[in-house]
Amino acid sequence: MSCSTVDHLRTGPAPSLRFCPTDPLGPCETPAGPRDDDGDAAMSVLDQSTAIPAPADQSPSSADPVADRPTQQTHYVSELLGVENLLDASDRAVLDRVRRYCEERIRPVADAFWLRGEFPREVFTGLHELGIVGLGSRGQHLLAGLVTIELARADLSLSTAFGVHDGLHVGAISRYGSADQKERFLPDAQALRTLGAFALTEPDSGSDISRSMTTTARRNGDQWVLNGRKHWIGNGTIADNLVVWAAVEGEKAVHGFIVPSDAPGYSAVAIDDKISARIIQNAEIELTDVRVGEDRRLPGVMTFRDVNTLLLHSRIWVGWQTVGLQFAALDTAIARARTRSQFGRPIGSFQLTQEKLARMIGNASSSLSLMIQLARAQSDGTATIELAAVAKSSLSLRARETAALGREISGGDGIRVRSGAAKVFADTEAVYTYEGSYDMNCLIVGRHVTGHSAFE
Ligand SMILES: Cc1cc2nc3c(=O)[nH]c(=O)nc-3n(C[C@H](O)[C@H](O)[C@H](O)COP(=O)(O)OP(=O)(O)OC[C@H]3O[C@@H](n4cnc5c(N)ncnc54)[C@H](O)[C@@H]3O)c2cc1C
Repeated sequence: MSCSTVDHLRTGPAPSLRFCPTDPLGPCETPAGPRDDDGDAAMSVLDQSTAIPAPADQSPSSADPVADRPTQQTHYVSELLGVENLLDASDRAVLDRVRRYCEERIRPVADAFWLRGEFPREVFTGLHELGIVGLGSRGQHLLAGLVTIELARADLSLSTAFGVHDGLHVGAISRYGSADQKERFLPDAQALRTLGAFALTEPDSGSDISRSMTTTARRNGDQWVLNGRKHWIGNGTIADNLVVWAAVEGEKAVHGFIVPSDAPGYSAVAIDDKISARIIQNAEIELTDVRVGEDRRLPGVMTFRDVNTLLLHSRIWVGWQTVGLQFAALDTAIARARTRSQFGRPIGSFQLTQEKLARMIGNASSSLSLMIQLARAQSDGTATIELAAVAKSSLSLRARETAALGREISGGDGIRVRSGAAKVFADTEAVYTYEGSYDMNCLIVGRHVTGHSAFE
């Protein structure tokens, strides 16, 4: 039986706790792993000999207030549901590599980058080594989902940056691009040598973008002239290429264009005052007479319906992110419940705390179960926009509750980033709204079951 290491939060003495997945709050007989100089438990679940070194400039300095953030690794929910038995050995090896990468390269720096609102480009590029680019396009939906859980659990924004690049940007070119475009843009994008973005939302059109798009494309000989503004675009300030969606002037058609970020007339300004998902670089983008050749128009897109096909898969991806966030909330809450004592007893021994933990585990397990079914539906071609909307709306609501309970269990420390709970709490707010807000996804479900659209 495998056991996992949970380090305590830095609010008291520094014992290392281990527990068995079958009895998450019970003691485990396996002795704790070795300690490092600081007294923290070293990660016994990882093979230290295969540690992936962090580049010097990506590591927080010792003066960094969150440099000593404890690590947490618990897999009780997925073990409880036997999820990994659904994977074959080679897929399990991919997932193990991703977990190790999260532990060694992402978790140690995520809080510092989050606080600074910076993007750790080298850490992101290193994801390429894991063989996880393009899993969804290759039809490996369950593995792609489980990988998303691990990335979102380590840091939501990095998982979002990866999803925007891999699922939406590369996904749009793979699905709707010409043979020439695929040959020209995909090799670098799939190797993460170039970074992509997906520019749909506008300052005055968010939820109603399908009917109120104001960014325009005008044909001029062999070229297209793009004008308009885009808002909230993930990877927007650092992308090499963006798939920009625009309405054709005087027509109903919507087209997607692969726009290079160094095109004359293109400008991107960072949205730098976020309280959520601070690592992903969101941008306000302006396109003023940006000219791109016909060879940069995605020939497979004619209307917004084609965009919706991409959104179906990306909403499912967001459903997996909500599971990762809930796992992250649990990692911190269980550690805290076991190590923080009040009234002379661990707070985890109080019934009210146990009810909160049980509710969090119930939310996370039911979210995970629904996502596994959705991965099956993607594989057999029965996934629909309505099913994706059920997942996106109901799971982001569950995640909001789970994250809030996790923050609550950490008490006052739960509003500090270094506690682990606060960042998850804040990041969950972005997930609740992007890829169609909770409300909009509910309205898609409501329209389906009643036959009445309540959109307007
Ligand atoms: C971190 C982050 C990353 C993002 N990344 C990208 C990206 O990479 N590319 C991109 O194109 N976009 C991106 N977005 C934009 C995102 O998709 C939009 O924020 C989202 O669609 C909501 O649009 P809005 O913010 O304009 O809210 P609005 O549409 O203004 O909605 C405001 C509120 O009104 C509610 N509402 C609106 N209409 C109705 C209605 N008919 N009935 C009931 N309630 C309604 C909404 O549910 C919401 O609560 C990102 C957003 C965030 C926060």
